[in-house]
Amino acid sequence: MLEKVNKHFGDLHVLKDIDLTVDRGEVVVVIGPSGGGKSTLCRSINRLEPIDGGTILVDGTPLPAEGKALARLRADVGMVFQSFNLFAHKTILQNVTLGPIKVRKVPKAKAEEEAMALLDRVGIANQASKYPAQLSGGQQQRAAIARALAMHPKVMLFDEPTSALDPEMVKEVLDVMTGLAGEGMTMIVVTHEMGFARRAAQKVVFMADGQIVEVNTPDEFFTNAQTDRAKDFLSKIL
Ligand code: ATP
Ligand code: MG
Repeated sequence: MLEKVNKHFGDLHVLKDIDLTVDRGEVVVVIGPSGGGKSTLCRSINRLEPIDGGTILVDGTPLPAEGKALARLRADVGMVFQSFNLFAHKTILQNVTLGPIKVRKVPKAKAEEEAMALLDRVGIANQASKYPAQLSGGQQQRAAIARALAMHPKVMLFDEPTSALDPEMVKEVLDVMTGLAGEGMTMIVVTHEMGFARRAAQKVVFMADGQIVEVNTPDEFFTNAQTDRAKDFLSKIL
């Protein structure tokens, strides 16, 4: 899916020859120290961040650099951020229906019906007419997940989706994500939630200094990491 992807910010080489394949239905957890390039990797995958070299393929199709083709392919990649990023002046229902109506050209009534089903699935159907600020962090993040799912993405990217949440809200968001994983959604998840990695992921990718240092199964990674860099990192967070 990613081939020799490189990215610089000025002199800083943030992504160094990143090769990463994510199979359909696979859940990959990306973990690693701050500044290692995890967010930049996520943002590069849907070209929120231009890359300097390499190829990104979604379902075998190279992601074009710009234009209509990019918009179309970007719609196949759902993204959930640490900071929810809901539209503050739209209701939860409007947040979820906006993309399908504008980008996918779904009729409003159909988009609303589907949005309500998604909100129900993430457990917040009763919040549909409220504005984001009226919801808890966990509810907002579940709304953000529903919004991304409404576009019928082929892959979902999560960049530390629970790190801005109070502890008691982390579980409700992780439960939704675990459910998605169980249904076969292809997911790339930047998180330090080891319980989630163990439960839901097939692969852990350890990233540091712009490189993929280690790829392992969750159980192996957390109990028997292969590289000193990963062991050192784990000794600090465990
Ligand atoms: P964290 O765990 O703190 O979220 P991260 O692994 O997500 O870290 P990135 O946010 O991808 O790391 O950042 C990688 C490097 O790129 C860092 O050194 C950061 O300072 C730098 N960087 C990120 N965004 C920009 C930008 N827009 N302009 C310049 N440098 C940037
Ligand atoms: Mg980050």
